[in-house]
Amino acid sequence: MTIGKTRVVVIGAGAAGIICARELSVRGFLVTVLESKNYVGGRAHSIHPEGFSYPIETGAEFIHGDLPITQSLVKEAGLSTIKVEGQSWHRHNGKLSTSQYFIEEWDLLMEKLQTLEQDISIGEFLEKEFSDSRFDALRRSVISFVEGYDAASVSRASAFALREEWLNEDFDAQYRIEGGYSKLMNYLKTECDKNGVSFSFSEEVEEIQWDANKVRVRTIAGNFYESEKVIVTIPIGVLQSKKTILFEPEIKDRLEAIQKLGYGSVVKFLIEFKDKFWQTIDPLNDGIGLKKMGFFFFRRIHSHLVDSIPS
Ligand SMILES: Cc1cc2nc3c(=O)[nH]c(=O)nc-3n(C[C@H](O)[C@H](O)[C@H](O)COP(=O)(O)OP(=O)(O)OC[C@H]3O[C@@H](n4cnc5c(N)ncnc54)[C@H](O)[C@@H]3O)c2cc1C
Repeated sequence: MTIGKTRVVVIGAGAAGIICARELSVRGFLVTVLESKNYVGGRAHSIHPEGFSYPIETGAEFIHGDLPITQSLVKEAGLSTIKVEGQSWHRHNGKLSTSQYFIEEWDLLMEKLQTLEQDISIGEFLEKEFSDSRFDALRRSVISFVEGYDAASVSRASAFALREEWLNEDFDAQYRIEGGYSKLMNYLKTECDKNGVSFSFSEEVEEIQWDANKVRVRTIAGNFYESEKVIVTIPIGVLQSKKTILFEPEIKDRLEAIQKLGYGSVVKFLIEFKDKFWQTIDPLNDGIGLKKMGFFFFRRIHSHLVDSIPS
C-alpha cells in the first residue's frame, strides 16, 4: 500500500483535528474528519450574538506568546493579530492595586522555583517556601493564576511544569486574532477542502473497532467509516468520562494513563456593559484610575484550593 492511498479518519475538528487533517492531506493521505458539532474549531469558537458590538470568543481567546506556528498560520490565512494591552488590577483586603505581573513578587517566586531540584506540586512548593503570612499575597496570586489561567489544581500541578511555562512565556506578548479564532479555523477548513478532505459534521463517534491494519468507526447515528488509521483528537476530559468512545479491542493501558492526566474545567461568562463605568473610578487618586485596566483579578470567596494552603 502506498502512502498516497492510506485512509485516515480524524475524530474531532478542533484545532488539533483540523491541523492534523490539513498536514496529512497535504502529504497525500485520504482524510475523513468526523465531528460531533456542526462547525470546526471545537473550543476555539467565535460567535457574534445580538447585543454584542464585536464577535466574542466562547472558548480560546488569546495567543499566549510569540508562537511561531500560530503566528505563521495567522499570516498565511491573511489575518492579523491585536496586541493585548492594559494594566492588571487586583483586589485584596477591600483595596484595589495594580501590578506589572499577574503574580505578586514574581522575581522572588522565580528565584525560589529555580532552586527546586525535585518536582513537587506547586501547592507543596508554596507551603515549603512561602508559608509565612508575609507571603499571603504571593500565595494567593499563584493559586488564582494556576486555578484561573491553567484551570489546574495546585495540589496536582507540577512545580517543574509551571516553572518551565512561566520562564518561557512572554507575558507581555499576548494577542487576539482580529475577528476571532474561528476565522483561522475556517481558513484551515478551506485548505482541507482544497486538499480533498471529507468532513462529516453532527457525527458523534461511539465506537472504534480496530486491528493493526484496519479501523471501523461507528457513530451514534449508526454510520460506519472504514480506514487504515484513526487519529483521536477529542478532549482528555471526554476520554476520561464514562460516556467516552468505546474501543474494541479495548486500550486499557492508554485509558488508564489518560485517567492519570490532570484536566480542569472552566466556566466563561461574557458580558458587554453599556457604559465604561470603571473609567470613572480612581482608587489610587493618580488621575488615571482604571482607564488602562486590561485584566481584573479577584479572589473567589470559597475555594477549597485556597483553603488547603495554610496561610
Ligand atoms: C473558556 C476557554 C478559554 C480558553 N482560552 C484559551 C486561550 O485564550 N488561549 C489558548 O491558547 N487556549 C485557550 N483555551 C484552550 C483551547 O481552547 C484548547 O486547548 C484548544 O481549543 C483544544 O483544541 P483541541 O482540538 O485539542 O480540542 P477541542 O477544541 O475540544 O476539539 C475536540 C473536538 O472533538 C469533538 N468531539 C468530542 N467528542 C467527539 C466524538 N465522540 N465524536 C466526534 N467528535 C467529537 C468536539 O466537538 C470538538 O470539536 C481555552 C479553553 C476554554 C474552554
